[in-house]
Amino acid sequence: MKYDHILIRYGELALKGRNRNDFEKKLKQNIQFAISEHSACKVKRTYGRMMIELHEENPEPVIEKLKHVFGISSFSLAMKASNEIEEIKDAALQAFLQHDGKKGTFKVSARRSYKPFPIHSQDLNQYIGGYILRNTEGVTVDVHHPDVEVVVEVREQGTYITCGRVEGAGGLPVGTAGKVALMLSGGIDSPVAGYLAMKRGAELEAVHFHSPPYTNERARKKVEDLTKTLTRFGGRIKLHVVPFTELQKAIHANIPSNYAMTIMRRMMFRITEKIADKQKAKAIVNGESLGQVASQTLESMYTINEVTNMPILRPLVTMDKQEVVEVAEKIGTYSISVLPYEDCCTIFLPPDSVTKPRRDKAGRFEEAFDFEPYIEAAVQNAEILDIGSEEESFEKQMNDLL
Ligand code: ATP
Ligand code: MG
Repeated sequence: MKYDHILIRYGELALKGRNRNDFEKKLKQNIQFAISEHSACKVKRTYGRMMIELHEENPEPVIEKLKHVFGISSFSLAMKASNEIEEIKDAALQAFLQHDGKKGTFKVSARRSYKPFPIHSQDLNQYIGGYILRNTEGVTVDVHHPDVEVVVEVREQGTYITCGRVEGAGGLPVGTAGKVALMLSGGIDSPVAGYLAMKRGAELEAVHFHSPPYTNERARKKVEDLTKTLTRFGGRIKLHVVPFTELQKAIHANIPSNYAMTIMRRMMFRITEKIADKQKAKAIVNGESLGQVASQTLESMYTINEVTNMPILRPLVTMDKQEVVEVAEKIGTYSISVLPYEDCCTIFLPPDSVTKPRRDKAGRFEEAFDFEPYIEAAVQNAEILDIGSEEESFEKQMNDLL
């Protein structure tokens, strides 16, 4: 006998006041997406839990992928037995032996969810505990602080045995909170902002501004790779690549240089809002943090924010750079973000940006030129890539072959 299931738990707390069915449906889909490479695995919903039937798949890589799925509080390898006491005892022993901590102390915690099962949980603890003791060496029972807790759960369809649990990613299943538009640069911050929004259940629609030929294909590839990395946490993401060159040139030619950055940001917000509207996203997420750079003073946020009514979520607003870097490293975006290729903001931008731009001035400068057609063109000509979809991986495989 060997571990043939993974039992997945999700927080009851997270479900409070929410649509349980939607939560479970999304979680199941996201788990299926995360482990789709392991095609023999089957995911099932059972009474407030999720169960993966491994069907001969190697559990280790499946476990690694599950660690990234939001909405999971913890999970455990499980061994399934019938509801025959002899088989349960034997499975419990095997589960204990195949678990890492087979030396030291243990206790058995049996639960009889299926009431017609004739043996009470106290007696089950005794029978199973005794059986493990008789068939092992150097192992003792400790009911207060055991090294291993052998959890035996008798259900109608069978008995599941687990030893130990793996911490899940927490949060809410991606998609349960609706959609947000993530302003994704090639930097360190915005991928982390996207990750944190996903953690609270938001599905991402990523928007990237690029300015060819001033920014090259590598910079763009970098953003695709960042998006791809984010799909590990909740499924495919549409990436909108917005051509920004003409608009940046128009700003450069028509706006006093110390306001160019402010106006450029206002344009980014306007365009992102239009894309968000089209995609039915209800908020914009970005990687701004308070007081890092000229564009991130409160005055600057105030002036840039004037152009949109959409909620702007800034998950990093209270974080120090070091904290952001730690998350970026943990989620695997850091090494991509630090690649040197320029993004559109660093081109064209004069060194004399005001740190306290004013709304009235920004508005007046914008009136001097008709930017509207440029904004429209940028929205219309945005290229949409479906990152993480099967077609995309197929296309990529073909390209890699050529
Ligand atoms: P990041 O590390 O995310 O690039 P940053 O510290 O460089 O952020 P800024 O350059 O001021 O900060 O950008 C602030 C935010 O504006 C970014 O976090 C991102 O959300 C958005 N942004 C900046 N440049 C782009 C771009 N080329 N495309 C899309 N969004 C962008
Ligand atoms: Mg940046």
